[in-house]
Amino acid sequence: MKATNALLSASGTTIFEAMSALARAHAAVNLGQGFPDDPGPRALRDAAAAYVVDGHNQYPPMMGLPALRQAVAAHDRRFYGLDVDWQTEVLVTSGATEALFDCFLGLCEPGDEAVILEPAYDTYAPVLRRLGVTPRAVRLTPPDWTLPRAELAAAFTPRTKLLLLNSPMNPAAKVFTVEELTFLAELVIAHDAYAVCDEVYEHLVFGAARHVPMMTLPGMRDRTARIGSAGKTFSITGWKVGYVTAPAAMLRPITKAHQFVTFTTPPNLQHAVALGLAQDDAYFTGLGAGLVRSRDRLAAGLAALGVPILPCEGTYFLVADMARWLRPDEDDLGFCQRLVVEAGVVLIPMSAFYERGAPRGLVRFCFSKLDATIDLALARLATWIR
Ligand code: PMP
Repeated sequence: MKATNALLSASGTTIFEAMSALARAHAAVNLGQGFPDDPGPRALRDAAAAYVVDGHNQYPPMMGLPALRQAVAAHDRRFYGLDVDWQTEVLVTSGATEALFDCFLGLCEPGDEAVILEPAYDTYAPVLRRLGVTPRAVRLTPPDWTLPRAELAAAFTPRTKLLLLNSPMNPAAKVFTVEELTFLAELVIAHDAYAVCDEVYEHLVFGAARHVPMMTLPGMRDRTARIGSAGKTFSITGWKVGYVTAPAAMLRPITKAHQFVTFTTPPNLQHAVALGLAQDDAYFTGLGAGLVRSRDRLAAGLAALGVPILPCEGTYFLVADMARWLRPDEDDLGFCQRLVVEAGVVLIPMSAFYERGAPRGLVRFCFSKLDATIDLALARLATWIR
């Protein structure tokens, strides 16, 4: 038989799937994959179920149900003051994952380059490479993940087609400041590039941190695609409903990609997400407030165990430094695999977010969990550490 695609044949199974399978096999507490214990708003689940039963089960419009596209435009105006034409500037996708793929397909040519920031979500680099786009990864350094400005400036070249920015950032739990965003935006503009902004954690922001879409910065409205995900905003990660907001000229080729990749997204889920986005502000602020409690519960428990933790301004994730528990010959993946067996707790090794040479001993905890789940994981870690 002829060889299958070399890059994808050589890729491993994503760490999130692999660690969740390990959690099931060992009946371990799963603080690995980023999904909430919370079942999501009851009204949305009821609305999705009723829409199916009522018979709305055929192909919806390719760009998404008008009600959802209108809701995305209204959301972008309410939270960010963006003036968005729902008919030409909003596309509904099957999750942010598809939205990212559509953006890369629609915007890039083989031979282009994309600037990405490490630690980076694990789909970015392989998908870019498969499309013939070279990812130029620039590393942020823990614990505070400040921008290496000279390196960033050097990573942009005449071939740079886009900057891929994830803020709030998984797994670093960093929320980029306006000043940092402005620095990046100026590089994008100076190189006449695009920004693809993965903002799936836009409403999961804590304390004084504030999420500002790069799209709202001067000069960026015409060159930015902003991606959101109902999975994160409504604690329903299995639904895979995403949305892209972009200027019409940019969205047209992105929509062509969508037309060939999935064409549409289940109508009942779109209908329910439209209702979700229209909820009052209390829903959105409540989401962050609930997560802060969980973050603090986990952080206090880890501190009591003597596990150093890194700052966390947003997302579902807290990064901890467990280097002193690694065996001399062990990497963070080996450590996390051993922890499942020995402690019954699943975490994600940070090396999953680096193409090579991750900082040693960092692990990612997911805290979008019930108190009882967090407490059980902490109790098991305590026993293991002792
Ligand atoms: N981007 C980031 C940074 C994520 O963490 C995730 C989900 N883990 C996604 C995109 C994918 O979102 P969706 O489930 O909507 O495809």
